[in-house]
Amino acid sequence: MTRRLPVYVLLDCSESMAGKTLDAIENGYYTLVSALQKNPYALETVYLSVITFDAKAKVAVELCDLPSAKLPRLSVHPGTCLGAALDLLRQSIEKEVVKTTKDTKGDWRPLIFILTDGQPTDDWQGPLKRLKAVKPSIGYIYAIGCGDDVDFTILREIADVCLHNKELSTQALAKLFVWLSASVNTLSQSPEGVVSLEKSLPLNQGLVLIDKDRPPKFSEIRQRVFLHFTCRKQCQPYLVVYRYNQDLNYYMCQETISLSDDFFSSGTMKAPAIDANSLQGEVECPYCHDTAWGKCGFCGNLFCLSENQSESTITCPMCKTKLGLSFSEPSFDVEPSQG
Ligand SMILES: [Zn+2]
Ligand SMILES: [Zn+2]
Repeated sequence: MTRRLPVYVLLDCSESMAGKTLDAIENGYYTLVSALQKNPYALETVYLSVITFDAKAKVAVELCDLPSAKLPRLSVHPGTCLGAALDLLRQSIEKEVVKTTKDTKGDWRPLIFILTDGQPTDDWQGPLKRLKAVKPSIGYIYAIGCGDDVDFTILREIADVCLHNKELSTQALAKLFVWLSASVNTLSQSPEGVVSLEKSLPLNQGLVLIDKDRPPKFSEIRQRVFLHFTCRKQCQPYLVVYRYNQDLNYYMCQETISLSDDFFSSGTMKAPAIDANSLQGEVECPYCHDTAWGKCGFCGNLFCLSENQSESTITCPMCKTKLGLSFSEPSFDVEPSQG
């Protein structure tokens, strides 16, 4: 029997990955699979598994050979439960990876790639300790922090190699997966010599190797904030993404992204409140295209409003309370999601 090289890919599916980013990750995954299939050695040895995590962790692809490694459609949910993902990874390894015995050589040590926005919202220390003690033992953990708000002081504790993929554009992520394919291809040819991958493979322009002894300082000011909205007319959830403008010291609306029906099913995790006055720019509802917005005084839900609202009362799409419209409120707070 061939010794397999199990490769576990852990994918963060929190809000920071919503929209085009998640599409690009799905496409990138297929680039990875097809690139590996072209290498006869990888085709024979590499077995892939994908674990997604948001409010909970889930096995999206059970460890299987490359031709069978089909990814289900991904969707985002609030939360970055990396700890839960590490626990699930450990259980998968215990179940799926063949141990070496006195008589037979088992699988190669599993490789782990984590793609995350880098801000776990659950306990990850306990799960990490348990993962490090798993039998059969794991090979290297590569963490790829994506976006502007990556906390490398945490990721460096988890991973042997930390990389920063700052840009989340479709092109940048496509490049990342090309790099990932080349890495796994290289590793499949020398599964034991996993140590200097980051040195042996050229990084593309968007991908930076993080010095683990001197991780970049984590900024207290979030570069992006995520607000949950509900369309007042269609009762559908959407995400509003704001980007921080350092010169002007406010957040500018960057995009609005429609979300799946079950988005709120796993609850939400709130970050500290921010003053609505620091939010600038037009927020276009992706469902009804209204460009104004409001907040329910009862449940705190945010929703779309028409610029020229004619009714004097409206119904909150979340808690269904009838609300009198007031435009005179000088200031109110909104609670972004933890992302
Ligand atoms: Zn709407
Ligand atoms: Zn309400």
